Amino acid sequence: MDAPVPVIAIDGPSASGKGTVAQRVARSLGYHYLDSGALYRLVALAALWRRISLADVKGLEGIAASLDVVFTNESILLQDQDVTEEIRTEECSRCASGVSACPAVRLALLERQRRCRRLPGLVAEGRDMGSVVFPDARLKVFLTASPEARAERRHKQLKQKGIVATLPLLLQDLRERDERDETRSVAPLKPSPEALWLDTSAMSPEEAVQRILGWYADASSKPAANSI
Ligand code: C5P
Repeated sequence: MDAPVPVIAIDGPSASGKGTVAQRVARSLGYHYLDSGALYRLVALAALWRRISLADVKGLEGIAASLDVVFTNESILLQDQDVTEEIRTEECSRCASGVSACPAVRLALLERQRRCRRLPGLVAEGRDMGSVVFPDARLKVFLTASPEARAERRHKQLKQKGIVATLPLLLQDLRERDERDETRSVAPLKPSPEALWLDTSAMSPEEAVQRILGWYADASSKPAANSI
């Protein structure tokens, strides 16, 4: 039997640095990269465009099942329109959080995410990569940082984009989003028992990347649990 395509699952809360770290790990290994949060953001944006309410489960499920999206190296196209920046707005973030609590949407996106598992390997980041989407991932990492460190990072990112935001409000927003992600009934943000924890509060992205690459080398040198 062919060995399964290896997956590194990186889960964690908003603004923990998952995106940057996961992309760099994927680049170092020459692996594919899946930003699962972008899919929820895309469903949210398509719902906003079509004025579909968050309470309209059938409408949201229909959008998720037929999402017309193209990921290129630099941009994300929704129905041929470049939405790379638009899916990162605060409005879209809030709406994505609501959309992601809908079980029918999660189910509709499941196969699309699993289809990203292609040779030579995949680095997948999100909230439920290790627990639901790729439970057999070779390495599972739970990447986190203190709420204060995450709010600081978001503040810096927004400032670079020329967007004015206050630190206390960002902190409050992150805490509310954590609470929603951790307490929703379907696929809540919860580390898999076997996930390795990485607190990046006092760590540079490069240090986090090197730590994960080291863990991955260790995991890859061990025989798989079901091999003879
Ligand atoms: O990671 P990001 O902030 O882009 O995710 C956007 C939204 O999608 C978040 O509110 C998060 O709860 C949700 N999400 C999810 N499951 C994933 C990835 C993201 O519920 N695997």
